[in-house]
Amino acid sequence: KRAEEESERSKPARTVDGHEVAIGANVNRPDQVSFAVAQGGEGVGLMRTEFLFLERGDSPTEDEQYAIYREMIEALGADRPLIVRALDIGGDKQVPHLDLPREENPFLGVRGARLLLRRPDLLEPQLRALYRAAKDGGDLSIMFPMITSVTELLTLREICEGIRAELDAPVVPIGIMIEVPAAAVQAHVLAEHADFFSIGTNDLTQYALAIDRQNPELASEADSLHPAVLRLIAMTVAGAARHDRWVGVCGGIAGDPFGAALLTGLGVSELSMTPRDIPAVKARIRSASLADMTALAAKALEAGTAAEVRALNEEAA
Ligand code: PEP
Ligand code: MG
Repeated sequence: KRAEEESERSKPARTVDGHEVAIGANVNRPDQVSFAVAQGGEGVGLMRTEFLFLERGDSPTEDEQYAIYREMIEALGADRPLIVRALDIGGDKQVPHLDLPREENPFLGVRGARLLLRRPDLLEPQLRALYRAAKDGGDLSIMFPMITSVTELLTLREICEGIRAELDAPVVPIGIMIEVPAAAVQAHVLAEHADFFSIGTNDLTQYALAIDRQNPELASEADSLHPAVLRLIAMTVAGAARHDRWVGVCGGIAGDPFGAALLTGLGVSELSMTPRDIPAVKARIRSASLADMTALAAKALEAGTAAEVRALNEEAA
């Protein structure tokens, strides 16, 4: 029974009409990889590196980071991709030992890419560690959080290229998180310079609906299936298509079976989630056709409210 379950989990997420969706795991530490793979994860779609800084009272050195990225790559094996997200600090992820200036509105302040661009002492050792790790083999990609403008992306790319050349390391795909509405609206511009997109629906929902993602009073209204958010996702997919880039989702809604079906219908081709959510998401994708999911997505985009979108789940069931 156990073996049967395991083999079911390792099967690809292929719709009944043969469309395959890549399934990644959101994993932060090498010791979590084996569980993620056992659940059916085909790689790591999001490694949140801020946890390396949050879990201890100081910042890991370049060498320490290199060792961890290598461990992740080795734990995954040569055929499974690893997407490492550069430090995403600020907003809900405060790192006390960095002593960053207090801000009135941290969610609208110096966070993610904005902080990386202001703190070469944080960005450069991390990029050096990543390119050194890439040099030793594996399927590594780098992803930048909280990108708002093409200027940020171009500057970060230039910094990456400088470090890569200096280390004589291989070219590594550079992707960006789409989690600010401006980035979704300008996806067609960003796609020219990004190798892939991964939509952070947790933050995208927060910024689109102006709802603090941590406010318990508003938790039920912060729904990533709100049609306004879905339209931003559709814009992201359309923008990426202009430059033949793939789009993933690594926010919480990717791990919801109905959300996963809807995202697939919107044209998202990779879903990365908490490992324990993988089996149910794979089962849901295998249970329907891409044509059904595309029809579902078209209806959802026309809905007026998140509740109307969720009602489509009952209809489909
Ligand atoms: C997101 O915003 O959806 C995301 C995946 O990033 P995080 O939750 O780490 O902000
Ligand atoms: Mg985010």
